[in-house]
Amino acid sequence: MPRTPLIAGNWKMNGLSADGAALAEAVAAGASSRAGGCEMLICPPATLLHPIAALLGEALKLGGQDCHAAASGAHTGDCSAEMLADAGCSYVIVGHSERRQHHGEDDAAVRAKAEAAHRAGLVAIVCVGETRAERDAGETLAVIARQIAGSVPPGARAADSVVAYEPVWAIGTGLTATPADAQTVHAHIRAELARSHGASVAEDMRLLYGGSMKPENAADLLAQPDIDGGLIGGASLKAPDFLAIADAAAR
Ligand code: PEP
Repeated sequence: MPRTPLIAGNWKMNGLSADGAALAEAVAAGASSRAGGCEMLICPPATLLHPIAALLGEALKLGGQDCHAAASGAHTGDCSAEMLADAGCSYVIVGHSERRQHHGEDDAAVRAKAEAAHRAGLVAIVCVGETRAERDAGETLAVIARQIAGSVPPGARAADSVVAYEPVWAIGTGLTATPADAQTVHAHIRAELARSHGASVAEDMRLLYGGSMKPENAADLLAQPDIDGGLIGGASLKAPDFLAIADAAAR
């Protein structure tokens, strides 16, 4: 099965109703005027999901940035995967490094969230990535293998799961992994998935790169054989930049 590139924007905690709607409309217009060749997704903050869902056409999908593992209950401030689906989402990011670092989420918690996403019919974008200290200690591939083993549900399939490799030191810093380094880690992720989930799941599952991807570096990263798209933070807040990255992916 050919892997359709996925370009996903993670708006993080940015956007009020007026500017969020304007950004979503600009991206949706750009997405619908393109011939396809890549799937496009935006993940605005939870407060904007409902209004933005009403603005999107067929060419742009909607996702959440996180979900709770439970479907409902006494979890003040949280949002379930079912609620995201109800708001119009088809994807959810789980295990972003900002959640792992600032909210103490470990691999077991991330896996439970990915399983919740599947229960609600959402595609889980499972994030993994090493810190600068782990990279400097030569532990990158071991850390990634451990995160894949612990975070990707055993029942994950290409249709319901995407893995995003996001080196923590590259997120929001302007630093980017070289295309060759990113490819090495992506090939490692695919090999780990082949061992844990079987060759055909690994072959079909999309692997995204995230970490200061922008129009200037997207084409070289996306040309790597095991990089099937991008998870984009800062550059997803500017419609022309996000659309330029999508153009690089569609080539
Ligand atoms: C992210 O947070 O997922 C991300 C990749 O951010 P940025 O593109 O800003 O590095």
